[in-house]
Amino acid sequence: MNSYEVVRQIGEGAFGKAFLVRERDGHGHRECVVKEINLTKMSAKEKEASKKEVTLLSKMKHPNIVTFITSFQEKSSLYIVMEYCNGGDLLKKINTQRGVHFSEEQICLGLKHIHDRKILHRDIKCQNIFLTSRGMKAKLGDFGIARMLNNTMELARTCVGTPYYLSPEICESRPYNNKTDIWSLGCVLYELCTLRHPFEGSNLRQLVMKICRGRYSPVPNLYSHELRLLLSHLFKVNPRDRPSITSVLRRPFLEKYVCKHL
Ligand code: ADP
Ligand code: MG
Repeated sequence: MNSYEVVRQIGEGAFGKAFLVRERDGHGHRECVVKEINLTKMSAKEKEASKKEVTLLSKMKHPNIVTFITSFQEKSSLYIVMEYCNGGDLLKKINTQRGVHFSEEQICLGLKHIHDRKILHRDIKCQNIFLTSRGMKAKLGDFGIARMLNNTMELARTCVGTPYYLSPEICESRPYNNKTDIWSLGCVLYELCTLRHPFEGSNLRQLVMKICRGRYSPVPNLYSHELRLLLSHLFKVNPRDRPSITSVLRRPFLEKYVCKHL
């Protein structure tokens, strides 16, 4: 950590913290984000999984995925250094400004890059989509470091955090798969259109019931028929009925839609 000067803390999660830092030497003291992952709270299996994830991350190179810079271990923590996206996350953006629909295609492209490599993201949500201020690029970040847990833990973890993104299969303790990422993508798209979560409930039981039925309030009529149709496909209760990311990207309307809003 000596090579970095901490500017401020920007996030805090179950396994550690995220800091905005500046490189002490190197090119123009560039700003980066360092994620500190506390290894002492992890089981041997989880530690192993985090290291594997870091290796995976280092291989991921795409304009719509947060760039990995380096990683190192110091004392009982694992540090991951990555590019800083100074536009904040998509949740903050949604809360302060409308008309960010173009992010949808960029997120699809990022997701395609991951799925083409037979990898799952496992935590797609507005808070894990980062924006750059210049060029307004959207990038998928926060890969499931230490998230290769079993399904019951997956459910427990999500309930501690943001249960809105639970998919029917996770609610029923069935395995996470590439179509679970597609469900979460549906949640992000829905939020971009309505500024609300697709599934809400006053308690977890009610929320789970709504998710498992796959019923949500329709998005306003101002959105195209194709967009509303896509949402209904992303929210198919049976994962097999949901489209793959490649097939989502093939929909001609998405391109047209994206151009209109750019
Ligand atoms: P976790 O959700 O496990 O705490 P994240 O990687 O999602 O970890 O980081 C938490 C928050 O920190 C994000 O929601 C975002 O606001 C901020 N953040 C994390 N990484 C970056 C980054 N590369 N650029 C900009 N902001 C980031
Ligand atoms: Mg996160």
